[in-house]
Amino acid sequence: MPLSPFACSNCGHWQMYFAVPPHCPICSDVRNDLPEDGWDFRTLEGVAAGLRHHRREVIPGVWEFWTTPRFGLDSHGWLLLEPDGNVSFEAAPCYDEDTFAAIDRLGGIATIAASHPHGYGALWQLQQRYDAPLLIQKEDLQWTKAFRVTHPWDERHEILPGLVLHHTGGHYEGHSILHDARRRAVFVGDALKLDLDRNGRVNALSCHKAFHKQIPLSPNEARRYRAVFERLDFDTVFTPFECAVGVPKAAVLELLDRMADGGASTRPVPIPVLMPAGAGWLDA
Ligand SMILES: [Zn+2]
Ligand SMILES: [Zn+2]
Repeated sequence: MPLSPFACSNCGHWQMYFAVPPHCPICSDVRNDLPEDGWDFRTLEGVAAGLRHHRREVIPGVWEFWTTPRFGLDSHGWLLLEPDGNVSFEAAPCYDEDTFAAIDRLGGIATIAASHPHGYGALWQLQQRYDAPLLIQKEDLQWTKAFRVTHPWDERHEILPGLVLHHTGGHYEGHSILHDARRRAVFVGDALKLDLDRNGRVNALSCHKAFHKQIPLSPNEARRYRAVFERLDFDTVFTPFECAVGVPKAAVLELLDRMADGGASTRPVPIPVLMPAGAGWLDA
């Protein structure tokens, strides 16, 4: 019996299944809420019928792909234009032919990667279309049955010079982030949650083991995040949902120091509280 793709309308997670799946492994996990009205799985045609597709160049050389209205967790896909082969990180909930044609005009996709299951979106569609190497940290293989991981990796993986994946664990066992040294950007997955103001400027930061259940990171998980972020140079942050420029690295480290010191909390902390007086982040 051929397998078909089905998406959970509660979280957007795709599964290949021989019938309507009995449950969604992502929503059944403690890190997500269960749907209150029971399972609602959609076929690709069912998902596509209700969505409009959008794209824009969000910073030079980085394209954003998303859909409206919101579907599942509403993940966004990022495409990094690279002379030696474009890199796709995270994915939108669904792709259509017009979007694929746009990606083709941008040079296609040479590498596919994602931070953790909440960023997977319709990653399986990208793999079917581009047949590119697909990189997932080995601890998250259990969530990847909708596609085929061709390059499981361990603690650090250099995709291209200056474009490096780092394993953080924490939120998910295999959670990882992508550092783009040339653009001074870090694709943090759900290691950080950004609170943005009306102008898209970050005004508070938080981090979570589980967002829906508001479970904080353990102290050692926060220390591990800090050890990774400390080594990276960045001022632009991408999550699976948004992008913000002018995110002070010192504020990120201070937030993680508070978590590591036993300040178990998921509350957003305002940037001025995290920054030493006179650091001048508002003028940056
Ligand atoms: Zn789900
Ligand atoms: Zn997540």
